[in-house]
Amino acid sequence: MTTYCNFHARSIADPTEFWGTEAERIHWHTPFTQVLDDSRPPFARWFIGGTTNLCYNAIDRHLPERGAQEALIYISTETGAERRFTYAQIFAEVNRMAATMLAMGVQRGDRVLIYMPMIPEAMLAMLASARIGAIHSVVFGGFAAGNLASRIDDAQPALIVSADAGSRAGRVIPYKPLLDEALLETRAPQPKVLLVDRGLAPLPLFEGRDALYADASAPHGDTIVACAWLESNEASYILYTSGTTGRPKGVQRDVGGYAVALATSIDYLFGGKAGDVMFTASDIGWVVGHSYIVYAPLLAGMTTVMYEGLPVRPDGGVWWRMVERLKINLMFTAPTAIRVLKKQDPALMRMSDLSSLRALFLAGEPLDEPTAHWIERALDKPVVDNYWQTETGWPMLTLPRGLDGIDIPPAKLGAPGVPVYGYQLSVCNERTGERCAAGQKGVIALDYPLPPGCMSTIWGDDERYVKTYWSNFLGRVAYSTFDWGVQDGDGFVTILGRTDDVINVAGHRLGTREIEESLSRHPAVAEVAVVGVRDSLKGQVAFGFVVLRDPARAEEAMDRLALEGELMQTVDRQLGSVARPARVLFVGLLPKTRSGKLLRRAIAALAEGREPGDLTTIEDPGALHQIRVALGLASPT
Ligand code: AMP
Repeated sequence: MTTYCNFHARSIADPTEFWGTEAERIHWHTPFTQVLDDSRPPFARWFIGGTTNLCYNAIDRHLPERGAQEALIYISTETGAERRFTYAQIFAEVNRMAATMLAMGVQRGDRVLIYMPMIPEAMLAMLASARIGAIHSVVFGGFAAGNLASRIDDAQPALIVSADAGSRAGRVIPYKPLLDEALLETRAPQPKVLLVDRGLAPLPLFEGRDALYADASAPHGDTIVACAWLESNEASYILYTSGTTGRPKGVQRDVGGYAVALATSIDYLFGGKAGDVMFTASDIGWVVGHSYIVYAPLLAGMTTVMYEGLPVRPDGGVWWRMVERLKINLMFTAPTAIRVLKKQDPALMRMSDLSSLRALFLAGEPLDEPTAHWIERALDKPVVDNYWQTETGWPMLTLPRGLDGIDIPPAKLGAPGVPVYGYQLSVCNERTGERCAAGQKGVIALDYPLPPGCMSTIWGDDERYVKTYWSNFLGRVAYSTFDWGVQDGDGFVTILGRTDDVINVAGHRLGTREIEESLSRHPAVAEVAVVGVRDSLKGQVAFGFVVLRDPARAEEAMDRLALEGELMQTVDRQLGSVARPARVLFVGLLPKTRSGKLLRRAIAALAEGREPGDLTTIEDPGALHQIRVALGLASPT
C-alpha cells in the first residue's frame, strides 16, 4: 500500500501531473493549455486558458442526474423556518437572482457585496454572482457599520445584497440601519441595494437606491441566465480578513483553481461523496462557510445543510436531532461550539440516532485535548482537526479521511495532522527562514507555489500581498502563515498561536488593531492596547487597556463601570458585538519599548497570570505595575 508520505511527495514533485489529473473533476468549457504558470513568483496561476464557472459546476452540471435530489436544506431555530431546495429548484432560484442582478445593472467583473444573515438567499446571491461573473464579497452579518464601510470602500461594489434583520438567541438584529450608516460613511460610489424582507424588522427604502428582492425578482421567475465562462484565474470572490493593521485585507480567490482544490478536498480530506449530506455549522461570512457550506458540497453533488441558530437552542440536543432527522453524514464546526456543548447534559446526544454520521470535522482555532477527548468519547465517531486560514481556502494540515488505498498515519492528540498534498509546508526560523529541526518551535511557512485554491493576491494591491505574506524571511521566499508551530519527526505539526496581533475569539479571527482603533474613537480615550487573553470557552477573548485623556474620570468605581459600558458600545456600533472586549481596564500608562512599540505580549502574559518575559527594551517598568493593579493582581501602592 502507498504511504501518505509518498502520496504527498508525488503532489509536490510533479504538481502538473497531480493537479492536471485532479482538474478532471470539474467541467471546463474550454480546456486549459497549461496546468501551472510559476514564471512570476510569488504569484501562481493555475489551469491557464481554461474557462469554467463555479455556479455551473455547483448546480447545472448535476441537473441531469440529481435534479430531484436536495441541494440545500435550510433550518433556522431562530425563526422556526425550514426550507428545502432540490438541485432543480436551486437552479431556478439562482437564475432568478442572477437575472435580477443583471437587470439592476451588475456586469461581469463588478463586485457584489453580500451582508446577510444565514438565509438561503445569501447562498443564492453568492451563486448568482458566480453565474454572471461578478465578484462576490460576503461580509459577516455580525459585523457593524464601521467594518462594513471599510469593506465597501475597498471593494466598491455595484450592488449590495442584504436583508432586514438577523436573529441571535431570539433577539432580532436589524441590519438595514447598519447598512444605511455604512453607506453614509463610505467614500465609494453609491451602489444599488437589493433587500430580502424576512418580516423581522422595519425596512424603510431609499427611493432610487433600494429595491425589495420580492419586487425586483418578480419579472424574472422563469428566466434562464447563461453562465459567464471565466478564465480560470479571473477573480471569483473577495473575502476580507484581519491582519496586523487596522485595514482589512481583501483575500482574492480565483475560479478554476478554487473549484479543483475544493472538489479534491471534499473527497480526499473529508471523504464526501455525491448524495451525502453535509452540515457545516459556520457562517457564510467566514471562509469555512464559503468553502464547506456553499461550494465544496455542491461541487460534489452533495446536500448541504445551512443553519441559523445556536447549538444550544432550544436545547443542547438540537444538532444531534438534526443529524438523525436529516441523516447527516459529515459535520463540520469550530471547537468553541463543542466547548459550549460540553456544558450540556451528554444524555441529549445519546437520545438521537447518530448512525448516519461518519465523522466530525473541527477547524478555525486550536482544538484543546480535553475537548477533543470529550467529543470523541461522547460521539464515538472519528473527530478530525484541520488547520487552515482564510488565505488558503482549504486545509493545510489534517489526516485525510477519503484517500482509499493510501496508508494514513494514526492521529496524535494535540496536532491537527500532517501537511496536506499540494502544500510544501515547513516550520522555519522566524528571521532567517531556515528549516527548524524536529521539535523546535518556528513559524509555519509554505514554499512557492501555493497549491490551487489559495489566495491569488490582495484585492487591488499586489504589492501588499508580496510585502505582507512573502517578505518575512531573510534568506528565503516563502509564504508566512503567521502561526507558530512545531513539527515532530513523523511530520505532525502542532499549532502554537499567532506570531502577529491577530486573535481568535470563538473561532472568529479579529485584529487587535481594529479593536484599538474603534476604542480610540471614544473622545475620552487617549491611548489603548488590546490583547488576546486565554479563555476556557472561547479560546481567546479581547481585553482592552485604556489610558484616559482625563484619568480622574475613572477614579470612582461607578464612573469606571459607566465608561466601560460606553466603550464597549462604541465597539459594538463600529465593529459589532463579536469584537467587543470581554473587559476594559483603565491604566495611567501603557508598557512600551523605548522606540514606542506597545508591549502587547507582556500585557497578555500578565492578563493570563504568566510572567511577562523579556523586558530589556521596556521604557518604564512602572507601566507593568499599572497593568497588574488594573487586573487586581497588585495594590496601587
Ligand atoms: P481564519 O482565517 O479566520 O480561518 O483564521 C485562521 C487562523 O485560525 C489560523 O492562522 C490559526 O491561527 C487559527 N486556526 C485555524 N485552524 C486551526 C486549527 N485547527 N488549530 C489551531 N489553530 C487554527
